[in-house]
Formats: sequence, C-alpha cells, structure tokens
Amino acid sequence: MENIEKLIKTQREYYRSQQTKAYEARLSILSRLKNKIEQYEAKIVRALALDLGKSEFESYATEVGFILEELSSTMKNLKSWMEPKKVATPAVHLPARSFVISEPYGQVLVIAPWNYPFQLAFSPAIGALAAGNTVLVKPSELTPNVAKVIAEIIEQLNQPAHFVAVVGGIETADYLLSQKFDYIFFTGSTRVGKIVMQKAANHLTPVTLELGGKSPCIVDQDADMETTVRRIWWGKTVNAGQTCVAPDYVFVHASRKQEFIQMSQKVLKEFFPNSIESHDYSKIVNTHHFDRLQALMLGGKAVVGGESDRTKLKIAPTLLDQVDLEHSLMQEEIFGPLMPLLTFEALDECIEFINQRAKPLALYYFGKKESRKQQVLSQVSFGGGCINDTLVHLGNPDLPFGGVGDSGIGSYHGQRSFDLFSHQKSIMDKALWPDIPIRYAPYKDKTKFLRIFFN
Ligand code: NAD
Repeated sequence: MENIEKLIKTQREYYRSQQTKAYEARLSILSRLKNKIEQYEAKIVRALALDLGKSEFESYATEVGFILEELSSTMKNLKSWMEPKKVATPAVHLPARSFVISEPYGQVLVIAPWNYPFQLAFSPAIGALAAGNTVLVKPSELTPNVAKVIAEIIEQLNQPAHFVAVVGGIETADYLLSQKFDYIFFTGSTRVGKIVMQKAANHLTPVTLELGGKSPCIVDQDADMETTVRRIWWGKTVNAGQTCVAPDYVFVHASRKQEFIQMSQKVLKEFFPNSIESHDYSKIVNTHHFDRLQALMLGGKAVVGGESDRTKLKIAPTLLDQVDLEHSLMQEEIFGPLMPLLTFEALDECIEFINQRAKPLALYYFGKKESRKQQVLSQVSFGGGCINDTLVHLGNPDLPFGGVGDSGIGSYHGQRSFDLFSHQKSIMDKALWPDIPIRYAPYKDKTKFLRIFFN
C-alpha cells in the first residue's frame, strides 16, 4: 500500500502544478491513449475471450469500439466543452458579465466492475481526463487478464502522475477509499455502492454510483412479437446477460404468453444453433456466479433453454415460467441469462408491481399505442431505457446514462461525462464604476429602494 500512497501523492503534486488543465495536455493524453488502444486491440480482444468468453464482435461493439468512438468524439468536442459558459446578469448588477467555468475537481478515483471490464474502466477515465483531472483507475480483480492489459496500456502512456492503474482486489479498493480523492466514480453492485458512499463521506468526496438492479421489460398486447422477442433476447444474451442494463425479467400481456414462449424458442435457435457450444455466446465469469445462477434457476420452471455446463461455465439463455415471486430469482438482480416470465392483464398492475420495488436502472416497453407508452414513462421511475428495443439507449452519447434511487446516483457519457468531472465555478466580473452606494451601511431609509429592485 506504500506504493499506492506514493502514487496518490505524486498525482496530487502533479495536479497542483496545473499541468493537467491545459487544452493541449488533455488532448495529448487522450490521443496517446487512443493510439495505444488501437495498438493493443488484439490483446484486449484476447483478454476478454479468456476472462468472459466474449466473441470478437461483442468485444469490439461493446468494449474497444465503444471506447475508441468515445475518445474521438471527446477530442473533437473538447475545446467547445471547455469554453466558459456565458449567462445573463440581472439589471441591478450591471455593468457586469457572468459566466461559469468548468474547473477540474482534481484527483479522480475510478473503481470498475468485471462485466464490461475494459469499457467501464476507460469510459469514466476519458471524461475525467478530458475535464482536466488526474485519474487513478482500479480495474476488477475478477477479470485478471483484462486488468493486466488495462494496466499495461496505461503504463505505456508513461505519465503515472496524470493517469495510472492500480491492480488489486477488495483490500486495494478499501485502501484507496480510505485516501482523500476529489471525486469517486464507482461502477458495481448496490451493496458495494453503499460502502463506497460511506467511505467517501469521511472526506466529503462527491461520488457517482453506477449500480444495478432488476430492469423490467413490458410486452404489451399490441407488441410486434417477432421483433420484440428478438430484441429482448439480444439484450439478454449479450455477454450472457451479465449486463447492468440487461432485461432482468419480462412482463407479457396474458393474451400473448404462448406466442412469446414459442417465438423465444425460435429466435434463440436462430441466434445460437449450437446452444451453449456457440462461440458467439459468452461464458459466466466464474464458478461462484455459475452456482449462484444455478440456484436462481430453481425459482421457476424452464420452458426454453435450461442447459448448462459447469466445466465451461456456460448457461443457456433460459425462459422461466411459474415463477416464485418470493424466491431470490425475483428478489435479487439476476445478472445472467435467466429470464423469469410474468404475465399481466392490465397495465396498471404491471406499473404497480414495478413501483413497489427498488427503482430500476433500465426499463423497456414494447407496444405501439402512444398513450400506453406515455403512461409507463410518466408513472414509473427508472434510470433510462427504450421503447421497442433494449440496451441501445447506451449507444447515444447525447443521452446521459445512470440510475436513480437504488440503481445509482449521477450520470455520464458524451458531454455529460465532461460536466460530471468538472466543478461549475460561477463568476460575476463587475465593472468598477459606477459603485452605487445603496448596498453599503448605514442602511437608514434605503429599504424602500430595495423593494423596487426585488419586485
Ligand atoms: P462489485 O460491487 O462486486 O465490484 C465492483 C468493484 O468494487 C470491483 O472493482 C471490486 O474490487 C470493488 N469492491 C468489491 N467489494 C468491495 C468492498 N467491500 N469495498 C470496496 N470495493 C469493493 O460489482 P461487480 O460484481 O464487479 O459488478 C456487477 C454489478 O455491477 C452488478 O450489480 C451490475 O448491475 C453493476 N453494474 C452497473 C453498471 C452501470 O453502469 N450502472 C455497469 C456494470 C455493472
């Protein structure tokens, strides 16, 4: 831990030297990072295959390509994001100009999870570097090959005082959280999110918590069943369901239940003709999570899928009927390829069911009627989501991404990332003349003038 303490001290001194703030310094570290990631692409893809059995397609779409795109658009927009933002000045304070400066917080700590281990370590780091901070990132210990590549890429930038990775497990995270940072960005479980917030409180450090939860999918009476089922299972099978915004369970209108089951069978056969043997289908991260998911499977009856192989850590996409609502299957975030199937007659029931539980990170509604879409959007609180699709809201950098309530605090992506890691410093620049004496004591007989201004 002595080395980590030294690193933190070095970053503090470097930040205070003002060197991270210049536009050129920000641009330079981002563009060197982009070059390194491009050079390391094959190694990253290999590490993701070793740790999670991710296909090259998924690795590029959700990890490497996602980050390269984020780097390009950040570099393109950085100058304009950095500009002070002018705001109007009330007449009573004229002559003056008012503006808001985006000022870096200073030292940022990023703690990443294992499910998108590359994307979720670099995506917040890019925002924090763009905003002019130093960054210390701790990748997840559960994906050791990816953690090693992340550390190697950052080490190659050869600027640990500006950007550094510290590889380690819970003990390391715990030590880092005992130290003073100016901002903490955490992605992981709601349980650990609470620990992070408690530790941050000791230093009054602001936090962003990107957490999880049970994200529902509603399939209404008028849904286009084939496209709906395809998009739901796509969202559930990417990374074998180990996605924070994966549909957790599905609520299908009772009149369409059989059709949903049959269509699920057909679609999954098309996606993965060799079921769990398919190279396009990721594995479960470790035996602990494999066993956890096997236990969850007992909360319902498999009507599609159900196969698994512990030696290969693979579990087939599985649709579960006759779900026990009291079982952990419906009490915890599933974070795997199991999909409990519930039915509803009236949309109100569905909304009531969701609103009685923790606010989800995502919600997906499938149906055509505008009034029904509006009812769900206005009556249910959730982080973000889609109408007639799953996951794709993450693909739009203009949509802030984050949770609400138990699913998180704060949001990022695109310009929102830059703003998140910037303190908004408000300035009024006043002319020296005229210096109207009304505000100065003695106040005798001056209140009547105040009434004019405050009207
Ligand atoms: P986790 O909370 O177990 O671990 C996340 C990180 O916290 C790891 O780096 C780990 O080393 C560290 N950590 C673990 N225990 C700790 C402790 N006691 N004190 C301090 N640090 C500790 O989460 P995970 O299993 O890696 O990831 C899965 C969870 O993350 C799911 O709940 C998922 O929904 C959520 N998630 C959310 C998002 C999002 O963007 N909202 C994205 C991905 C994953």
